[in-house]
Amino acid sequence: MTTLKNGEGVGTPWPAADPFSTEQRNPCAVTRSLAGLPPPVNPLLKKRAARQGFTLIELLVVIAIIAILVAILMPVFAQARERARAASCFSNMRQLGMAAVMYAQDYDDHYVPPCLHPNMDASRPALALWFQLIQPYVKNWDTIKCPSHGGAQGAHGVVGSYGYICLGTSDDPNDPNFVGLPWIGTLGSIHRAAEMIMIGEIPVAGCRVCPFYHTHAPMLHGWARPVQLRHFKGANFVFYDGHSKWMNYDQTLQPRNMWKNLP
Ligand SMILES: [Zn+2]
Ligand SMILES: [Zn+2]
Ligand SMILES: [Zn+2]
Repeated sequence: MTTLKNGEGVGTPWPAADPFSTEQRNPCAVTRSLAGLPPPVNPLLKKRAARQGFTLIELLVVIAIIAILVAILMPVFAQARERARAASCFSNMRQLGMAAVMYAQDYDDHYVPPCLHPNMDASRPALALWFQLIQPYVKNWDTIKCPSHGGAQGAHGVVGSYGYICLGTSDDPNDPNFVGLPWIGTLGSIHRAAEMIMIGEIPVAGCRVCPFYHTHAPMLHGWARPVQLRHFKGANFVFYDGHSKWMNYDQTLQPRNMWKNLP
């Protein structure tokens, strides 16, 4: 057994030389906080924190990339939206076409006329227009509004986007204003019902959708309006057999002019 002599070990810290730092000796944060020390710091994190976030250049690069992505994707989204609207317009047209077929069935094969006047006197105000005549068969006023257009107030204060085909102003098939349709007639008087336009897209709910080559002045009853190509440089059309189709303008003229009731 050894005994300390007086003065031995006094004034010397124990252990004499501590080879560990405070952090290494006491790594647990809880223990450290109990001991009143700050939590341990990961030296790797310490280095990153010193950078203080992103630099301006990095931010600008990120913003530029986002801007490019948006520029690429926006037309894609816009096209998808327009495709949906065109499909909804087509669905409207389909319903109008089916309603027109039902109208003809109820009226002894007479197709729906653009309008009806007292005693067939066009100088007197119209009693009803085509969209009012077929409305009982559709029972939905929204069907005469094209979603890409929204509808505008037309004849009889009705808001819509579609027009009945112009009846023309000439009996000469070579005249640009020839259409060859009687005001009131039967489906039997249409030479090729599946290739004869009945309803097209115009800026209001009205009579008389015209091809671009019509040269006549606005009509006495029902403003004549050129067809509007709202959907991908084309438009939806209803034909006299009741079917609907999207076509570009050239397809309405070639190989067959679908604005003329010709054999
Ligand atoms: Zn009329
Ligand atoms: Zn449309
Ligand atoms: Zn016309």
